[in-house]
Amino acid sequence: SLSIRQLTKQFDSNLVLKGIDLEVAAGRFVVLLGPSGCGKSTLLRTIAGISDPSSGGIWLKDRRIDAMPPEQRNFGLVFQTYALFPHMSVEKNVAFGLEMRRVNKRDIAHRVAAALELVGLADYAKRLPKQLSGGQQQRVALARAIVIEPDVLLFDEPLSNLDAKLRDTLRDDLRALQQKLGVTSIYVTHDQSEAMALGDEIVVMKNGEIVERGTPIDLYRRPAYRFTAEFLGMTN
Ligand code: ATP
Ligand code: MG
Repeated sequence: SLSIRQLTKQFDSNLVLKGIDLEVAAGRFVVLLGPSGCGKSTLLRTIAGISDPSSGGIWLKDRRIDAMPPEQRNFGLVFQTYALFPHMSVEKNVAFGLEMRRVNKRDIAHRVAAALELVGLADYAKRLPKQLSGGQQQRVALARAIVIEPDVLLFDEPLSNLDAKLRDTLRDDLRALQQKLGVTSIYVTHDQSEAMALGDEIVVMKNGEIVERGTPIDLYRRPAYRFTAEFLGMTN
């Protein structure tokens, strides 16, 4: 499991994360939901190691990881922008993380092919990113994240650049794949319907704090906080 304890992040005088405590059990899919500016991306970036916490700690199982550089955390990242290397083919993009880890060539070929198969892009291995649609590019980013066999998958609004129809398809595919692999996942969104459709659990953030946590049904039926009720669109 992943444990985040008393995590804070301050930018100059602005305290953006105000002591976050969060446990994510192994294999669970947790959605971080909250309005724009509440600190979701900051929290995810800190978990990924792209941003350092001001105080507090992060543990994976019993290992403290918050001082580790991002490349030593075995985390798969899928962000809003695909950030693929434009000059590299799909398979090279997916292979990159394995090459960095000095996996041998034959295993790389195997694992890249398997990952592309899983995201439905087996026939696109030789293409360049620009020869793919936005949804296909995001599938490449997903393949790149899973090919390293990550301990945790971190998603930051991965569907927000896609049109509505593509978004639903990719959302369902992504969730099915996560379940198949059983990989612990944290998924950031400000979209309530996405959170309700995806999460084993939803963690609601407001203004740098976690204000509520529960299954989608829990939160829908009996939101403890008026904020959540308002946020889920149940009051006027
Ligand atoms: P959105 O839904 O719009 O993506 P968010 O919940 O992801 O919002 P964050 O990007 O985490 O919000 O930002 C939270 C706060 O931290 C904002 O007030 C933002 O201006 C501030 N912030 C984020 N990154 C930095 C930075 N590098 N330097 C200074 N302030 C920052
Ligand atoms: Mg954000």
